Amino acid sequence: MIEQSAFTVEDWSIRETELHLDKLAQTESVFALSNGHIGMRGNLDEGEPFGLPGTYLNSFYELRPLPYAEAAYGDPESAQTVVNVTNGKLLRLLVDDEPFDVRYGELHHHERELDMRNGVLRRSVRWSSPAGRTISISSVRMVSFAQRSIAAISYEIEPVNDTVRVVVQSELVANEDIPTAGKDPRTAAILKSPLECEESMSNGSTLGIMVHHTRTSNLRMASAMDHQIEGPDEMVISSDSYPDVVRTTISARLQPGQRLRIVKLISYGWSSARSRPALHDQVVAALSAAALTGWDRLLEEQRAYLDTFWSNADVELEGDPAIQQAVRFALFHVLQAGARGERRPIPAKGLTGSGYDGHVFWDSEIFVLPVLTLTMPNAAADALRWRHSTLQQAKDRAQQLGLKGAAFPWRTIHGEECSGYWPAGTAAFHINGDIAYAVVQYIGATNDSDFTANVGLELLVETARLWRSLGYHDALGNFRIDGITGPDEYSAISDNNVYTNLMAQYNLRSAAEVAKQHMDTADVLDVDQDEIASWLDAAEHMLIPYDERLQVTPQDENFTKHQVWDFESTSADQYPLLLHFPYFQLYRRQVIKQADLVLAMMLHSEAFTPELKARNFAYYEPLTVRDSSLSASTQAVLAAEVGQLDLAYDYLSEAALMDLDDLEHNTRDGVHIASLAGAWSALVAGFGGLRLYKDSLSFSPRLPNGLTRLTFRIMFHGGRLHVEVTGKEARYSLVDGSSLKLWHHGEEITVPADGAVTRPIPPIQAGPRPEQPQGRVPGAHYRRNAKEKTTSPARKKR
Ligand code: BGC
Repeated sequence: MIEQSAFTVEDWSIRETELHLDKLAQTESVFALSNGHIGMRGNLDEGEPFGLPGTYLNSFYELRPLPYAEAAYGDPESAQTVVNVTNGKLLRLLVDDEPFDVRYGELHHHERELDMRNGVLRRSVRWSSPAGRTISISSVRMVSFAQRSIAAISYEIEPVNDTVRVVVQSELVANEDIPTAGKDPRTAAILKSPLECEESMSNGSTLGIMVHHTRTSNLRMASAMDHQIEGPDEMVISSDSYPDVVRTTISARLQPGQRLRIVKLISYGWSSARSRPALHDQVVAALSAAALTGWDRLLEEQRAYLDTFWSNADVELEGDPAIQQAVRFALFHVLQAGARGERRPIPAKGLTGSGYDGHVFWDSEIFVLPVLTLTMPNAAADALRWRHSTLQQAKDRAQQLGLKGAAFPWRTIHGEECSGYWPAGTAAFHINGDIAYAVVQYIGATNDSDFTANVGLELLVETARLWRSLGYHDALGNFRIDGITGPDEYSAISDNNVYTNLMAQYNLRSAAEVAKQHMDTADVLDVDQDEIASWLDAAEHMLIPYDERLQVTPQDENFTKHQVWDFESTSADQYPLLLHFPYFQLYRRQVIKQADLVLAMMLHSEAFTPELKARNFAYYEPLTVRDSSLSASTQAVLAAEVGQLDLAYDYLSEAALMDLDDLEHNTRDGVHIASLAGAWSALVAGFGGLRLYKDSLSFSPRLPNGLTRLTFRIMFHGGRLHVEVTGKEARYSLVDGSSLKLWHHGEEITVPADGAVTRPIPPIQAGPRPEQPQGRVPGAHYRRNAKEKTTSPARKKR
């Protein structure tokens, strides 16, 4: 079935011109607002109908037991689950005698717009009640980047023809009912009534406050609201409070030409340590600061924050307005996920939905941080500082597993392992190398010596210790890492996964190098010369298998010996395979869920010759089914590198449109932050050919047919580099910062502080376009949508 996209194509907005009730859950994720601390799904102001109600506070979770049919030593006993916290965005409306509900009466007009330059969600509605009273409503919602604990809504109602009596009930609601999830493991375990009330009060008028705590994790949260109201002289304002509801009610009679305008300010705070009175005061104080700022200045602050972001991070394209829009949408959500987290994790869904229980995975270090490191380095440092703050849990876990150093969790919120399935959880040790890799990338891009000494080195040392104790030297002197799981979750518990071994090697070498540069700090961590030598020795002898017969790199030592999956007998509706086949059938076959060896070729480019990259890419394409949204962007980058530019374009489109076109039919659980970040990588590392190796930047730009120009900016060593690529040449210039050495298609160039360097783009000879498994050709979705776009008025460019 050809599905039509819900949104129009525009440069800076995501607009839905009519309400699609069947896509409500998807659009709630797409229209979610967040600053990395507070997240609000794009639920309708009046709360109903909804796909999934959701308001989240970063790291506010409840514990739930992890039951095992057959328990084993080292199984985590409980898991952390993100909590749907008090909903502060509710504004219910009664028009004469009838509730405003889009399912009843007549909806003449309904439009929502996510404005990515101003950082707001706008909504405009014209509706007639079943009794025939027509009103127009417009609302603007924001979660403030400038004031981390503040969200705000401006809500206006006007009658169209007749005088109407309107009643607005503005609420804080805790323990909302949430629809139960199906059987897809990627959705969340829903907790019923997770919040216990400690305080609920109103001042009889515009102010309301609530304090709740979770029962087991013992976290406390507070929320407060206040209102600025403009309307006719005669209005009645009252408020009431109950354990889970605080309500301010505003009643007014409006004649045509009159309007009621309510600015609702909402503040949130949470803590594991602060007392009820302290949190109460904290949210009241935050409200007071927001009231002092006022609505107009909150909007100005938001715009200023975004102006800075876009001037550091924007990517511009000529030739494809839909991808232009999608990449800005992608960057906007990456920003929302990481902006004001401030030493909190960046979950796989950001704060846009409860998918994956709100857990953070390796997605953060390998997909999201590369974008933030080069566009918002402080946010990248904060996310790594959060990892560092969980070091004790990781050390405890390593000890429990009989290992040294730190074993970071596969999935978590607070730092403890929350995966109940060890073959694709605990065994996925590459997470540790991924964290180390992100540390080295950040240091390379920023030269942040304070971070290196206080955060980076310790992360590198403890992960190096882990690798040294996890692997061993065999009789031939090779350093082997057996029985672990690489990124491809359809091949678990394998020996010498190349991605993992390259990551471990890099981790060991980087730890040695940085320790030698900071011997004082290394001393404090008990690192001595013998230990450094043992890391270097393990790295030197790391086993990187090679299949001489096929002349390719096997994903792991035995991978290429396995039987190939029977793709011909697998029908389109049997994807994702994990929902239709037992893992044991997948593990013993050559079938790949997501880029693994191909990702190794992207992150460790120097470990493969160009010819080997091309052979490996051609080998793995027909085996990779992309049952994870993390795959397409990596395949885009490597496709571009080996000269498969059209294929790269198709993969870019898939990564970029993952949520706008709901390609995996699960955007309802939250947007796919790693795939969105991957859209940036597909453009910047793919068609821009950017690679960062230690502190050296290189580019091998090359555009596909259809894109006539690509420009992007990155922040590097305190300056900003501007790169412009056309079909024929690339131009490098510095927006600010001192002169910079970099590589263009293998040639070293120096970009002067006040000038630009232009270089031609050499041609490339690519082999035939590699094939994908039957039914898994990328671009099928995209081309269908592109076709739709030309015929659908909803997709017309405005
Ligand atoms: C992928 C993992 C990823 C997780 C969260 C899974 O489907 O296989 O690599 O970390 O989703 O995005």
